[in-house]
Amino acid sequence: MNSNEPREIDIAIIGGGPAGMAAGLYAARALRSTVLFEGGVLGGQIATSDRVENYPGFPDGIGGFELAMAFHQQSEHHGMETVYAMVSSLEPQEDGRFRLGTDGGGEFIAKAVIVTAGANPNKLGIPGETELTGRGVSYCATCDAAFFKNMDVAVVGGGDAAVEEAIFTTRYASKVTLIHRRDELRAQAVLQERARNAENLEFLWDTVVEEIHGSDQVTGEVEKVVLRNVKTGEQSEMPVKAVFIFIGQTPNSNLLEGLVELDAGKHACVNDWMETKVPGLFVAGDVRANAARQVVSSAGDGATAAIRADHYITDHF
Ligand code: NAP
Repeated sequence: MNSNEPREIDIAIIGGGPAGMAAGLYAARALRSTVLFEGGVLGGQIATSDRVENYPGFPDGIGGFELAMAFHQQSEHHGMETVYAMVSSLEPQEDGRFRLGTDGGGEFIAKAVIVTAGANPNKLGIPGETELTGRGVSYCATCDAAFFKNMDVAVVGGGDAAVEEAIFTTRYASKVTLIHRRDELRAQAVLQERARNAENLEFLWDTVVEEIHGSDQVTGEVEKVVLRNVKTGEQSEMPVKAVFIFIGQTPNSNLLEGLVELDAGKHACVNDWMETKVPGLFVAGDVRANAARQVVSSAGDGATAAIRADHYITDHF
């Protein structure tokens, strides 16, 4: 083979989070030549989670990074190969295969592609937010609320995610204050009703968080937030041990734009088998529409996509 020719593989997986690594495990165990492309850190969002307590099989929980490494080791053990590069182009070919280019200049031709590029939670962009992430600032209450048992916490946002996660957090926290920039929630009515009925959930309207302070901004934990009422301009402080932020998320779907159907939030629309409208192109995990956004559901998505991709290759090549 001429070394300048693209390398031919069966299944390309774009993104090394739980969905990608589970897809890689299933694809490799189906004896398909499988390459997973990761341009950043393996593990996706769990790589920065201090502890994961809701992934089945670990009664005492497990470190996020440790879980990510275990996923990766298992998938490679069964034959998945990892290429540490960002996929910069994805083009369907006339013969039904896909041409992928990486930022390092690598070229690949794959019979099926599974995009598991994940999503990033939107950030407030305020002082203390980045510094205290993992030490009280969190973008997943389902993952982290249990660490704040009997403590006062804040939730920021007014959409479905904020309200749903605020309700979940009331199971653990002594008091949850939902801070919203307007005086009306965006969340669906049924969630609003549930939130209003929750005993230890209070609303703080027309308010934005301007700063998050820790006992020590470098190694400490969240101690308080600085607030501003957007109508009166009045500033105040509120002591809290955690700030859960749900102001939307941005899926990493750039590669899919113009190729598959995306919803208003730019998540890819797929069917129950993770199939897009483009034959051989699958999307799984947080980058797809209507994902539950959990490690276990992402891994399930990845497995589903790989099983279907294996069948697709058998039927079409
Ligand atoms: P979302 O619906 O876009 O809501 C984002 C919220 O954050 C809005 O209330 C918005 O305020 C607020 N916000 C945005 N930027 C902000 C900023 N810089 N500072 C303060 N507040 C800010 O996002 P989401 O809640 O993540 O939901 C995303 C999608 O997933 C939605 O389609 C939702 O229906 C769906 N979802 C569904 C469920 C469910 O059905 N159980 C659960 C979770 C998510 P404004 O209201 O003022 O714009």
